[in-house]
Amino acid sequence: MAKTAVGIGANTLQCFVRNPRGSKAKAADPEDLAKCRALLEKHEFGPIVAHAPYIMNPCSKDKGIRALAAEMMAGDLALMEHLPGNYYNFHPGSHVGQGAEAGVKMIADMLNRVIQPGQKTVVLLETMAGKGSEVGGTFQELRAVLDLVDCQDKAGVCLDTCHVSDGGYDIVSDLEGVLAEFDRVIGLERLLAVHINDSLNPCGARKDRHAKIGEGTIGTEAIVRVISHPRLCRLPFVLETPEDDAGHGAEIRMLRSRLPA
Ligand code: FE
Ligand code: FE
Ligand code: ZN
Repeated sequence: MAKTAVGIGANTLQCFVRNPRGSKAKAADPEDLAKCRALLEKHEFGPIVAHAPYIMNPCSKDKGIRALAAEMMAGDLALMEHLPGNYYNFHPGSHVGQGAEAGVKMIADMLNRVIQPGQKTVVLLETMAGKGSEVGGTFQELRAVLDLVDCQDKAGVCLDTCHVSDGGYDIVSDLEGVLAEFDRVIGLERLLAVHINDSLNPCGARKDRHAKIGEGTIGTEAIVRVISHPRLCRLPFVLETPEDDAGHGAEIRMLRSRLPA
């Protein structure tokens, strides 16, 4: 994984700690993790972003599914202690008719159970498209979760460009306005990573279908404004576009070539 990232010219990466569609984690191999750590250091990677499994739903109606979410996150965070100083991003979940307020509380409850005050990983709530009953489609909902978290320094936000656009935040014609709103509601100091994706759907569509950079409704110019913005440019940027490794390499080269020197 780290080798592939180096090969395509990346200096951060996003990975899954376990099968993204399942719950079984492969046993951690401390030797592998040590090798990975050495490679990331050698190539001066910035913080990397682990992504929680998609099946995780901390605000499910079902107590067992909520317990499984907590178990998966606790296990993943334990593994990540072998790679200190990085991020663990998760989808806050879907409240499935219980209401956003109930969802917010369940999500915070889980975080307060699994986050250890001394841990070396910061957990990130991902901004969501607001599809179905997803929690986190508005900055207010993310703020509501963060407000209930005990370890404030262990919780932040990852902004996904496709998701916020789908959620109705117009980053194409008003990036400054969206960032000002983020700052007012959550605080830009809590924004620690960015997923850069184009979207197949118009702003406000609440669909969550990623497009290749320049092949969606956001477009290359708006993505370049995101990655070169003075308040964002130091953050890790992760591509989640429908490309293979070579395609992602080309996207990285294209975006780098557009950055001011
Ligand atoms: Fe995600
Ligand atoms: Fe994402
Ligand atoms: Zn998405």
